[in-house]
Amino acid sequence: MTALLQADGIWKSFGDRSVLRGVSLDLSVHEVVAVIGASGSGKSTLLRCLNLLETIDDGVILLGGEDISDPRVDGNRVRARFGAVFQHYNLFPHLSVIDNVTLAARKVHRMPRRDADAKAMALLERIGLADKAREHPDRLSGGQQQRAAIVRAVVTDPEVLFLDEITSALDPELVGEVLELVQSLAEEGATILMATHEMAFARDVAHRVLFLDEGRVVEEGPPSEVLVAPREERTRRFLSRFT
Ligand code: ADP
Ligand code: MG
Repeated sequence: MTALLQADGIWKSFGDRSVLRGVSLDLSVHEVVAVIGASGSGKSTLLRCLNLLETIDDGVILLGGEDISDPRVDGNRVRARFGAVFQHYNLFPHLSVIDNVTLAARKVHRMPRRDADAKAMALLERIGLADKAREHPDRLSGGQQQRAAIVRAVVTDPEVLFLDEITSALDPELVGEVLELVQSLAEEGATILMATHEMAFARDVAHRVLFLDEGRVVEEGPPSEVLVAPREERTRRFLSRFT
């Protein structure tokens, strides 16, 4: 099977600091891949390179066979096919929840407001946030804001959903509601690449786990292997912090 997203030998430095050192990965349609690794190992940089928020120094990134790492490629056009949620809330404070959620759908995807609103409301309804649609984000809890950010990322039917430690900034009691939403999207067949420290979630939801250490993929495989019976000493050492 050919991968939807395929990265081969990605190198990325900031100044003289080499952050990604030849990372390769592939992601098939409907696949959920979790990237784990210590803080500073390069997880966010990898996700940012893959969705063209950073330019890579070497390597190639293919999306559906197209070389999207070619500098001539229009990054905005490519990113319109992706959805992304980051650690910190991504909602514009001056816009209502519904306007936040539909902004990209309306402006980038040229979806008529009525259609965008209907689709957004159906999603907000599903996660119990319909009554918050006209509120501004500061009236929502952190968990509600992150769930709204996820709705915003999926309302445009992205081919790949990038999630970068989306629960790391949340109070512990709010983590569950956000992960539940991600799990239901995964069960519906979303293609997801997520950086996470939620090992139990990665074990239950990811099809594949990739352990990044100092910008290299040290170990990769199904969670039952990488998280339960890792082959590499470095993976074992990393995982021992979570038990
Ligand atoms: P992780 O997400 O695994 O914590 P990051 O990808 O955020 O790791 O960071 C990896 C390394 O790259 C860190 O040392 C970080 O300081 C550095 N880094 C990330 N982004 C930048 C940047 N824009 N400029 C300089 N250094 C950066
Ligand atoms: Mg990070």
